[in-house]
Amino acid sequence: IESDSVVVENLLEKIINNLSEGVVITDRRGKILFVNAFFESLTGYRYEEVVGQNPKILQSGAHNKDYYKNMWECINTYGLWQGEIWNRQKDGEVYPEWLKILAIKNEQDEITHYVGIFSDLSEKKGVEVELEEKILTDTLTNINNRYSYSVKMNSLLESSSSLLDSKIQHAIFFLDLNRFKQVNDTLGHTTGDLLLVEMAQRLKSLISEKDILARHGGDEFIITLTNIQHPREAAQFAEQVIRAIEKPVVINGHEIYMSTSIGISLYPNDGQTTDELIYCADKAMYYAKQKGMNGFSFYFDELNIDTERVLLLDNELRKAIEKKQFTLHYQPKLCLKTNKIIGLEALVRWNNEKLGIVPPDEFIAYAEESGLIIPLSEIIFELVCKGLQKFHQAGHDNISIAINVSSIHFQQYNFLESILDILHRNNTKAENIEIEVTERTLMTNDSDTIEKLTKLKELGFKLSIDDFGTGYSSLSYLVRFPIDYLKIDRSFIQYLTTFDDRKAVVEAIIQMAHGLKMDVIAEGVETAQQIQFLKKMDCDYIQGYYFCRPQPVDVIIDFLTKWKNEHQGWSKV
Ligand code: C2E
Ligand code: CA
Ligand code: CA
Repeated sequence: IESDSVVVENLLEKIINNLSEGVVITDRRGKILFVNAFFESLTGYRYEEVVGQNPKILQSGAHNKDYYKNMWECINTYGLWQGEIWNRQKDGEVYPEWLKILAIKNEQDEITHYVGIFSDLSEKKGVEVELEEKILTDTLTNINNRYSYSVKMNSLLESSSSLLDSKIQHAIFFLDLNRFKQVNDTLGHTTGDLLLVEMAQRLKSLISEKDILARHGGDEFIITLTNIQHPREAAQFAEQVIRAIEKPVVINGHEIYMSTSIGISLYPNDGQTTDELIYCADKAMYYAKQKGMNGFSFYFDELNIDTERVLLLDNELRKAIEKKQFTLHYQPKLCLKTNKIIGLEALVRWNNEKLGIVPPDEFIAYAEESGLIIPLSEIIFELVCKGLQKFHQAGHDNISIAINVSSIHFQQYNFLESILDILHRNNTKAENIEIEVTERTLMTNDSDTIEKLTKLKELGFKLSIDDFGTGYSSLSYLVRFPIDYLKIDRSFIQYLTTFDDRKAVVEAIIQMAHGLKMDVIAEGVETAQQIQFLKKMDCDYIQGYYFCRPQPVDVIIDFLTKWKNEHQGWSKV
């Protein structure tokens, strides 16, 4: 029996020395009597160094006197204490451990010994922190994810509401990249990913430590600007963001122009919780997007109606594309020198039973954003081919029709093939089609654009620059493109006769365009006076309500026929 207990004692010591927990035994005064092997390896103290010492030598200074007082009170009352404690190793390194202290009592219920058992938390801490970081960051862009944003916002709002300062304001920005889907679809997902990383970096560079930036998902980002004094600051910041996103990005040799729409909500005015604030900012973003690309909007109460309309628009537009429920109106272009109608511009019309007549500006912008523009644009090309046949049948053989081509369709890698296919199927010649592109289209992806335009020109299409003057390109920039017509934007024509500076600009544009062998078309001509000015300036063509509004095919056929027969000279001017 005697030898059995010795065997067990030896076994126990072996077991204790093999534990991956530290064990320390002290007497009732705290003098260390025993430590196991794991204690040695964790603390860095050897057995001989600590036996006879007090465990106080391990204290890190991380906890105050009260902490230890409570601990000892607990042990002496309940016989047990456990908790996380930071201790110091022999070499000075501080580490966290999970410590359990037991009081060992004799038969008289007196404490004779204490046993401390502890496990190392530092490694677990590392894993936990890493795991937490993984859960909280967006793996692609390395900024906060949606979940992390909520966590940080919640604690921000908690600390904000406890400060009874009513002035305190945070601004929440909801950003959505415009036309991101097209980049992804045309240039591939890798490019799309790189683009998102770049955008995240740009956003990060605009904010400070106390602000919060997160990827909300897809191409959406959220930023909280903390402690702003006035909504004006939020507006200025939104401007900054727009400028930062706008700078071209070069990825794999592609020059990409991005833009963003931003919605802003303010704490505490628009909402008290994270969810409310995001909801409002999101609504405002939709509104900003509807007003036109690359802008921002603050949240306001009447926004509700607009979001519902967007949803309805999306639904109805998809249906309309499927059923091809669009028509075209045509607006003639008049030559000021010969008084002949040289062509027509096709303008798409959509009359929806639920939404009524939707202005093309609105649904084209939406179609561009949602990717629906490609099928819609193809429908328009087809309608133009059908329209041409009608005009030809009515005897207007040489008439050509201009089509507005969205930059998104134009940049599609198979743009040429897709339109040639439609023309071919409808027996339509390229000579009868004019392609109108905007300055923005020309500014994107230079070499590709020149190549496409040159090809179109070779095939017999006529090319126009639409809305000239509203973009940023200079006329000299246009030299490299094989353009036939330059259309001066309506905004210049509108004030032609009232502001001298407009007159000077229009005159300069006309002269330079002629120098570059382009003909000039003035858009949106509404008065006889404007025509007189334009004639004097040697403008080639006009288009506008004064001469003829855009109308359905039959009305325009009548107009053309009458014009040919009766108005060899234009009596109106
Ligand atoms: P846009 O290409 O600049 O077209 C000219 C716009 O000015 C047309 O508006 C036309 O109706 C209007 N307009 C013509 N003469 C006058 C005038 O004397 N005074 C005024 N105030 N306006 C005049 P609409 O039809 O509402 O189209 C607006 C825009 O929507 C177009 O601007 C174009 O950017 C786009 N759009 C229209 N149809 C199509 C289309 O088939 N495809 C594409 N991609 N975009 C289109
Ligand atoms: Ca146009
Ligand atoms: Ca235009």
